[in-house]
Amino acid sequence: NLEKAIHLEDLPQAMFHMPLCMFRLMKRLEQNHHLKHGARLQLGLFLKDCGLSMDESLHFWKTEFSKGGISSDKFDKEYAYAIRHHYGREGKRASYTPFSCMKIIQQRPSAHEEHGCPFRELNSASLDTLLQTYGVEEAGCRASIVQKAQEGHFQVACGMTMQMKKTGQQIATSSEEFSPTTTHPNHYFFDSLATKE
Ligand code: SF4
Repeated sequence: NLEKAIHLEDLPQAMFHMPLCMFRLMKRLEQNHHLKHGARLQLGLFLKDCGLSMDESLHFWKTEFSKGGISSDKFDKEYAYAIRHHYGREGKRASYTPFSCMKIIQQRPSAHEEHGCPFRELNSASLDTLLQTYGVEEAGCRASIVQKAQEGHFQVACGMTMQMKKTGQQIATSSEEFSPTTTHPNHYFFDSLATKE
C-alpha cells in the first residue's frame, strides 16, 4: 500500500512523489550507481522512514552499486555496516530518524558532494533542468519556483513545486493564508502520495 509504506517494487513510481532533494539523489544513483556518504545518509534515512525494511535497503543499495562495478564482497565490507547502523543494528543500536528540511538546508555539502537542498545548492539553470526532469512541465511555473529559491525561500519553493507539478498551473504565493511551505521530506512524500491524481 503506497499510502502507508513503500517497498522495493514501488520505488520507480514513488520517486516522482519524493521531494526534489531525494528525487535528485535517486536520479544520481540511477546514473552513476554510486553516492557519497552524505547523500547515502540523507537518502537512506528518508527511504527507511518511507517504509523500506533493512533487508530491502541492503538489497536496493547493493543492486545499484553492483551496476557500478562494486562487488558483493566490497559492498558487504564497506557499505552494509552503515545501512545496518541507520536501522540501529550496529554501533550504539540507536535507530536514526530522517532529516528535516532545516537540517538538510543547514548542513551544506562541499563542492563535490551531492546532498543538501537543491533549492539552495543549485544554480538557476541546473535547478530548472532538474525541475523539468521531475515533471514540472510549464516553463513559467519553473521560472517562478526558481525565483522563489533565489530569494532564499527554499521551503516555499519546494511547496510550490508539489502544487505546480500536480496542477500544471502557477499559484499565487503572496496571499498570507497560502504558504505552501515544506518542513520535512517525508511529509512531502506522504502528502504527495495522498493527493495523487
Ligand atoms: Fe528537500 Fe526540504 Fe529542500 Fe524540499 S525544502 S528539497 S523537502 S530539503
